[in-house]
Amino acid sequence: MPQVIDHGGGVWSVQVPIPDNPLGHTLVHVLDTGRGPVLIDTGWDDPASWEALTDGLAAVGTTVRELHGVVITHHHPDHHGLSGRVREESGARLAMHPADTAIVRRTRGSHPSLWFDYLADKLVRAGAPDAHLAPLQAARAAGRTGGLPGLGAALPDREIVPGELLPLAGRKLRAIWTPGHTPGHVCLHLEEAHPAGLPGAGRLFSGDHLLPGISPHIGLYEDPDSATGADDGDTDPLGDYTASLERIARLAPAEVLPAHQHAFSGAGARVRELLAHHEDRLRGLLALLSVPLTPWQAAERMAWNRPWSAIPHASRTIAVSEAEAHLRRLVKLGRAEVLPGTPTRYAAV
Ligand SMILES: [Zn+2]
Ligand SMILES: [Zn+2]
Repeated sequence: MPQVIDHGGGVWSVQVPIPDNPLGHTLVHVLDTGRGPVLIDTGWDDPASWEALTDGLAAVGTTVRELHGVVITHHHPDHHGLSGRVREESGARLAMHPADTAIVRRTRGSHPSLWFDYLADKLVRAGAPDAHLAPLQAARAAGRTGGLPGLGAALPDREIVPGELLPLAGRKLRAIWTPGHTPGHVCLHLEEAHPAGLPGAGRLFSGDHLLPGISPHIGLYEDPDSATGADDGDTDPLGDYTASLERIARLAPAEVLPAHQHAFSGAGARVRELLAHHEDRLRGLLALLSVPLTPWQAAERMAWNRPWSAIPHASRTIAVSEAEAHLRRLVKLGRAEVLPGTPTRYAAV
């Protein structure tokens, strides 16, 4: 049975499963337009996910072939994965923010081993122990590519211009640039009265930027212009993210349609919760920096949803990146500094 919700006013969501992932599924949204339905995100590239998407479109009363366009909130594989297959079968144009398209282009153009090199280099600089690097080196040596993000993902052919209305017949859908989770993440604001009359300014397709019960991952950006993919120390993903949250609170949408979990109202309250969460994290982290710490050491000492010893390998990699984004924010705020040398160490100022 396809899992489809009719949100009213020519908007539906289709649950597209993400294999072996606690998130469960991506909510792919279908928006009816005067020239055919448009998808917002596509789901993970997997046969069962494809089947869920096509069954869902049938339940909505359409097919992949009838799709007029695809708008991608960000380049992650649970959003962009099926884009290539959708475009192949429909001829629909794919739109994405250029900052994320640059990452897709770089990933497509490079050998998988480069991705391992990028990750290993990043972890070495973050102070990861050899035991954490060994499985990555083994996967690189074995030429394994399974599960790597975005290899083979379709290159978008349309650019999403922040602040502009998308050229969709009969609909007012505006792109709101919300960097943080990725450098080119966009939310899409449907500037039409809520179909059930909820108070507020239309509806917001929020991707991974604003979710009702999950704080999205914020880590250092991959720099598509550098040879290794490592960033140059100038970016501030957490600062971008909190500024993007405030932008959404000012929009005050009547309802938020996120790409995971469920639709909700009260965007402003949820933004305040997330801002408070990151403030707490920053305060706690600053207290730890009375002694200089590498990002790895900081991650070991920060509070997570379980003890560090119980966090599996892949999640530790993500946690270290999350710690690093918070450390970078403290530097940008003038509260911490980077000490010279490798691995990178941070100390309170
Ligand atoms: Zn994501
Ligand atoms: Zn996602």
